[in-house]
Amino acid sequence: MGGWALSSWSSHRVSVQARRVAFQSDSLTHLSFKLLQAVPHTGQYLLPGTPTQLLHQLDSDVEGLRGFGTTLDEQLASLTLASGDPALHRELEAIRLLTVQVQRNLERTAVEVRAAQARQQPVPIAVLESMLSDPAITAIRRHGEVLATLQRKLDDQRDTLKREEDQALRTGFAFWLTGLALGWLVGLLFAWRTADRILHPLLQLEKLMQAPGEDVNLAIQSSTINHAPSEIGSLIRSFLKLVAEGQELTAQLKSLASTDGLTAVGNRRRFDEGFSEEWSRGLRSGQPLSLLILDVDHFKLYNDLYGHVQGDACLKTVADVIRRQARRSSDLVCRIGGEEFAVLLPDTALPEATQMAHDILAALDALALVHGSSPVVGWITASIGVACAIPQHDDSPSLLMERADQALYIRKDRQGRHGVTVAEPDVDLATELEVEAAPISPVTLG
Ligand code: GH3
Ligand code: MG
Ligand code: MG
Repeated sequence: MGGWALSSWSSHRVSVQARRVAFQSDSLTHLSFKLLQAVPHTGQYLLPGTPTQLLHQLDSDVEGLRGFGTTLDEQLASLTLASGDPALHRELEAIRLLTVQVQRNLERTAVEVRAAQARQQPVPIAVLESMLSDPAITAIRRHGEVLATLQRKLDDQRDTLKREEDQALRTGFAFWLTGLALGWLVGLLFAWRTADRILHPLLQLEKLMQAPGEDVNLAIQSSTINHAPSEIGSLIRSFLKLVAEGQELTAQLKSLASTDGLTAVGNRRRFDEGFSEEWSRGLRSGQPLSLLILDVDHFKLYNDLYGHVQGDACLKTVADVIRRQARRSSDLVCRIGGEEFAVLLPDTALPEATQMAHDILAALDALALVHGSSPVVGWITASIGVACAIPQHDDSPSLLMERADQALYIRKDRQGRHGVTVAEPDVDLATELEVEAAPISPVTLG
């Protein structure tokens, strides 16, 4: 815009100059024309004529010169010409002097012609010759030519100024266009930055709202919040807080929904989920998955003897004992029935699983929770069925469960409680049980 204003101003100045020069040129044209008319036509005086005709000619030429002189005086007095080219000014003043000189010469000649006329004598030829040989007449013609040259110079100057004016206008337009483009660019950049500051965090927020399961604090970088306008930053922070609270609440609910209220180990739902997950993982890894099912012996008798409240406390203690043995983070301990517990052992082969079952029973024995009415021994004991499998696609996880259950059943029903029975992998327990034959050759380690 500044460029455009500067350029307009300079173009205006050039335009004023050009108009002044054009005016001077026009004035000169006018003057030259007048001068041509005023310069005496010397040839006329050489033609034969009466003194009256001669006087008429002389008066007419004097009148012409006087008129020209008046015009020239006006021009010289005019400010435009006076402030113009000094050479031009000098030239015009020289012409003015010459016209006065020629005018006086003609007037002198007229006086002599009148005198001759009064004497009724012919006009002496010497008078005319003297007038015609006046060098001022020749000089005035020459100055007339100089005037024409000056006029051409002014015309050239006017053309140059016109071109400069056009150039200034074009430059101004170019400046204006550049300024416009720059302004547009700056505006665009500003709009983009603003949109980025506002839209970017909002879009991120929207994405998160559509996928609330993600870790929002990680997903929205703090730089995004810091760069966002304060209202949007506070909106995002409120949303993050809300989501964090929601996530915490969800985690609590999830934990509650999968935890056994009495013993704080997993409940049946947790066991079913974990079993299914670990079976799928075993399918992929090809690693063995072991399962222990533990049943507290003669627990009804315990309840009957000590009451339900102490029965509860006893179940809690049993759960703690099991949990202390199944220490790996991948081991899953759940209460799957009243006094029944399951221990899921991923990536665990049969010998290790069997060993763990024995360790649990040994720990219970060591604890020796008194069970006054137990027909087994005088303290709380348990029976455990153990099964292990490498998950296969044509197998079902429920089969592993059945085999562990059946091993437990055999332990309790046929082999006497307070011990561990292992379902051998290559023996079809169910079939064996149906024909009531010895279902497997249980390994009785207890
Ligand atoms: P067995 O040796 O054959 O397993 O005999 P059992 O008495 O342990 O088994 P049974 O199935 O006959 O009885 C289980 C008892 O467990 C019955 C019930 O009173 C008790 N029980 C189940 N859940 C709870 C519980 O949450 N708290 C308490 N205190 N007792 C429970
Ligand atoms: Mg039972
Ligand atoms: Mg029992």
